[in-house]
Amino acid sequence: MPHPQAPHPLPRNTAAVSAFAGRTAVVTGAAGFIGSHLCERLLDLGAEVVGVDNLLTGRLDNLSHLCPADGFRFRTDDVVRPFTVAGPVDFVFHLASPASPLDYARHPLATLKAGATGTLHALELAGGKHARFLLASTSEVYGDPLVHPQSERYWGNVNPVGPRSVYDEAKRYAEALTSCFQRAGDVSTRIVRIFNTYGPRMRADDGRAVPAFIQQALAGEPITVAGDGSQTRSLCFVADTVEGLLAAAAAEHTEPVNVGNPHEITVLRLAEEIRAMTGSASPLAFVPLPADDPKRRCPDITAARDHLGWEPVIPLRDGLRRTIDWAEKHFPAARNTATA
Ligand code: NAD
Repeated sequence: MPHPQAPHPLPRNTAAVSAFAGRTAVVTGAAGFIGSHLCERLLDLGAEVVGVDNLLTGRLDNLSHLCPADGFRFRTDDVVRPFTVAGPVDFVFHLASPASPLDYARHPLATLKAGATGTLHALELAGGKHARFLLASTSEVYGDPLVHPQSERYWGNVNPVGPRSVYDEAKRYAEALTSCFQRAGDVSTRIVRIFNTYGPRMRADDGRAVPAFIQQALAGEPITVAGDGSQTRSLCFVADTVEGLLAAAAAEHTEPVNVGNPHEITVLRLAEEIRAMTGSASPLAFVPLPADDPKRRCPDITAARDHLGWEPVIPLRDGLRRTIDWAEKHFPAARNTATA
């Protein structure tokens, strides 16, 4: 039974759907944007889910519709400290980390620790339980990429001391740690490099372009476009991203794999689209580009298609419609600034 508050029917475009029934999954970062959708989908597929979160950037509201009767348990835990859960565990999905540029600027040390020590503890939990481990990595490991689109073979162009480095380098270290456990044979691991994901439950104030533009458009405030808006983003709807995570966890492919939508759009076009879809009269306001802002990001998803049988199925307009519908009920009508 889909959860009554699920914002839309979820796509079933992978063979992964049978892998989770009757299994137990731990999701770190469960109270966050992607984590809460992942918990919901795992429960829909018949899994027991233990959500772990310290509520640094997530909200219990995101999980308030999930309850023990559905097979859901929640623990307030900081993964930077060793943690365990009672009983058998089959999968550990490690998503705990601040993820938006504003969040990791606010919490730089916590971001480094979540990626480093937090990942170590999540791997140790998986090792102790003989569970499969999945790291939610990021396209940020490619930095400001010099090749387009980015395939998993590209090693990236990352500034190790710039303001984004606390996130980029923490995730690169997390990938190294995960690969180390895989090579040693201690844990069966998966690494998913998630590209920009959007959808219901993003916070209006998290600084990323989609929620910021929607918030500004709904409030009738100027829509703040960074630079001249010619930089591109590839936006994947959250239900597609969640299917990608599940497909990766269920597959035998252990190399890093990109999960994202290869459809590229300029930030300016995105602002115009959101303004039109909300029926807003907001003007566009051009603001300085943040430091180390990537000019182009576009995933090569050949590996996901070949090894996971996954590709996104939700067109941008449909995803934006669902996100705007949700935001109309949940966003405060206050001013915001986009940095993504
Ligand atoms: P989010 O901020 O909404 O969720 C992250 C969750 O992790 C929050 O609930 C937060 O409270 C929790 N958390 C942070 N530090 C923790 C700690 N030490 N212990 C326990 N919980 C902790 O972010 P999101 O967008 O849902 O991202 C989830 C994951 O996906 C992150 O690992 C992020 O790096 C990755 N990712 C997201 C995107 C995207 O576009 N949203 C893109 C690439 C990668």
